[in-house]
Amino acid sequence: ERKREGKNGAQVYDPAILDRTRERAEIESDIEAALASHWFEAHFQQIVEIETGRIIGFEALMRMRHPRKGLLPPAAVIGVAEETGSIGQIGEQIFEDAIANLARVSRLPGLGDTYVAVNFSPLQFDGHLATYLAGVLNRYDIRPSRLVVEITEAVLMHDNPEIRRILDSIHQLGCRIAIDDFGTGYSSLSYMSRFPVDIVKIDQSFIRSLDGSRKEVAEKSRMLVEGISAISHKMKCAVIAEGVETEDQRNFLREIGVDCAQGYLYAKPLGIADLMTTLSRSNDEPKSMAG
Ligand code: C2E
Ligand code: MG
Ligand code: MG
Ligand code: MG
Repeated sequence: ERKREGKNGAQVYDPAILDRTRERAEIESDIEAALASHWFEAHFQQIVEIETGRIIGFEALMRMRHPRKGLLPPAAVIGVAEETGSIGQIGEQIFEDAIANLARVSRLPGLGDTYVAVNFSPLQFDGHLATYLAGVLNRYDIRPSRLVVEITEAVLMHDNPEIRRILDSIHQLGCRIAIDDFGTGYSSLSYMSRFPVDIVKIDQSFIRSLDGSRKEVAEKSRMLVEGISAISHKMKCAVIAEGVETEDQRNFLREIGVDCAQGYLYAKPLGIADLMTTLSRSNDEPKSMAG
């Protein structure tokens, strides 16, 4: 503990450190309460096929519905949860909520084949993961091909044979594997050849710079995104652009043949009630509205 020398020689605690310690303890106790009282819920964001405007899937994104603080984003929770290990239990609640909600969404016309993409923390990769996933999918009568397991490069970084075995068994089960935030890690390209990857999600930082104010940066970003897309396709991976917010971005992505897009241009992540309302409403609209 860092201490400061007080005026009369007494040791006083640095108030900034004390604040942080208190804040952290509060997050830990919020997480405990949230696990016990089921405050965690999966919100759904559409993933859209650019060419047709058709919804092909949803990403499940963790939210904590705190009775006093309102809806909290993952950034407020994940750091502490990974340190204490509670991310494992949180991840299971989010995954099960995501699969239960996919079952509900599937009953709407035209959405019976959609998938759900769920984020998994490196800490969730143990030898039982594939068996656990299969059990939950089976309980909700959801085909494994309708689950996409999203991993970040943090999972792949150590080239651990155990991780490879786990990913292989998830793959053999029939689920697909997506690399999230692609292009931001240390050796993005090498993971494509060493692991069974089906989908590449181009990080939103690249998409944001596509029509940024600095012309030179925008031009280089366009070349980068086009290159990543070409390599991914060559490796038989489907490509999703993350964080698509403008028509210009969407038009460029369509032009260079990126398969799918996700972002505020299409929809924000929604809780299940809002999602069901939105989806039933857009189902009534003429098809031309979708593109
Ligand atoms: P991610 O997996 O890359 O998810 C995409 C993030 O971008 C989400 O933030 C989403 O709300 C946001 N986003 C989507 N479209 C747009 C857009 O057009 N513009 C902008 N500015 N942002 C957009 P969110 O929900 O705050 O999640 C942040 C990160 O937290 C996720 O990044 C993921 O790494 C992690 N995460 C979320 N849910 C889970 C989970 O259940 N388990 C684990 N382990 N991590 C999760
Ligand atoms: Mg993700
Ligand atoms: Mg991402
Ligand atoms: Mg991210």
